[in-house]
Amino acid sequence: MHYSNRSLFNPGWGAGIAALALGAACVSAAEAQVKTEGIADDEATASFAFTKVTRPSVNDAATGAMFQVIDGTVDPNSGGVAVLNDNKVPSEDDQPRANFFFAAGSKGGRLGLDLGKTIDVREVNTYSWHPAERAPQVYNLYASDGQAAGFNAAPKRGTDPATCGWRLVGKVDTRAGNSTEMGGQCGVSVTAPEGEKLGACRYLLFDIFPTSQEGAFGQTFFSEIDVVDAKGAAPEFVPTLAKPEGQKAFTLADGTRMIFDTSETPDLRDWALNTLAPVAQEWYPKLVAMLPSEGYTAPKKVSIVFFDKMPGVADTAGTRIRCAAPWFRQNLKGEAVGSVVHELVHVIQQYGRARRQPGAQRNPGWLVEGLTDYIRWYHYEPQSKGAEIKTRRQFERARYDASYRVTGNFLNYVVAHYDRDLIQKLNAAMREGKYSEKLWTDLTGKKVEDLGAEWKADLESKLPPAPAATNAPATTPPADPPVSPTVPATK
Ligand SMILES: [Zn+2]
Repeated sequence: MHYSNRSLFNPGWGAGIAALALGAACVSAAEAQVKTEGIADDEATASFAFTKVTRPSVNDAATGAMFQVIDGTVDPNSGGVAVLNDNKVPSEDDQPRANFFFAAGSKGGRLGLDLGKTIDVREVNTYSWHPAERAPQVYNLYASDGQAAGFNAAPKRGTDPATCGWRLVGKVDTRAGNSTEMGGQCGVSVTAPEGEKLGACRYLLFDIFPTSQEGAFGQTFFSEIDVVDAKGAAPEFVPTLAKPEGQKAFTLADGTRMIFDTSETPDLRDWALNTLAPVAQEWYPKLVAMLPSEGYTAPKKVSIVFFDKMPGVADTAGTRIRCAAPWFRQNLKGEAVGSVVHELVHVIQQYGRARRQPGAQRNPGWLVEGLTDYIRWYHYEPQSKGAEIKTRRQFERARYDASYRVTGNFLNYVVAHYDRDLIQKLNAAMREGKYSEKLWTDLTGKKVEDLGAEWKADLESKLPPAPAATNAPATTPPADPPVSPTVPATK
């Protein structure tokens, strides 16, 4: 849905929010208008399909012009100023390399544009796209023909550009307050009123401010900046692309976006949206709350993508869960939902962070998967009793480090007998790269092998008595429950 007049963005269309055109050498007397238009993230596509603000074009006057950072630090994850006039827009809502933005935690900065020659500017259009607080735009726009005496082409913060040959053209602020609702695509057009011109300009200066003071991530993801020459050719717009069918996004109460992609598997769409999606939306925040650690914020975007011919079951890389449709089709009434809950835990673990810590230990795979399955079997679906060890055969194979649900069973024993907060503590240590076997002794007073032996003795005491040797024909032992089909996550 387009919402040029809804609460997420200021109702700027046609309203001329900031109508300013201060006197200076090259000014047209016209009052500039600032139009803004937002597209909700669920609806946004790589077409930037604005209907009121001009769409991004590929032949505007900024093409080939020179952007320059006058003040401030560019974020190292940004694509730099080159992406601002490459006539390409991002294809998704969170593509740092396809956007220009100032450094996290900074106060923004000043960006200059030299068009190379003086032209009659009809519009200056700025575009951004992000799922959350990096979507809105907050900046002041100055223009100059560079002819004034004492003109300074690169005034740093602290110098009012109006004192060195610039005129303030417009003030842009597309925010409406609630930072969790700020996501989407944002288009801003600074224009002259009908029949007027913005003025003869060679230089533009964007004095850019963070969109939010909370947290470090309030730097707008600027996707493209266009300058429309009043005497230039008719604009050619970026290609119009259809939104991939089968992608459905949900926004949770805390702003987390969850995307279900069944483009390749329309046969699974109904199940994914009506059975899986409600569970995933309910459980993701619960799982986040179960696995806190100091200074950690769980990902605010998760995608769950089904692949028609993928082998195996499911895996997770970063915040993307891949699901193997052949397996899901066979298990919709069985373990399908639980296997996605397992992968959601991996999204929240983010143990890949640990490897970036100096001297970090590599987390043992059996414990990563065991902790994940503990949460799945003992918190998400305890009623299924899927991790119980009930038969002598299961018991004989059980080892504390057997991974998945067997380790989950072991962890459940240690939680019950030693430390109710064991899972939180193990998770925090693994996320921070601080896990070692010594942690078991610190938390329980016992080595992990000794805990394992104790757990096995406890399991054995609960087994049905071994059948006495008789001459009766041997009965077939009950079948084991299936081993966890969830393949190890790609981490
Ligand atoms: Zn796993």
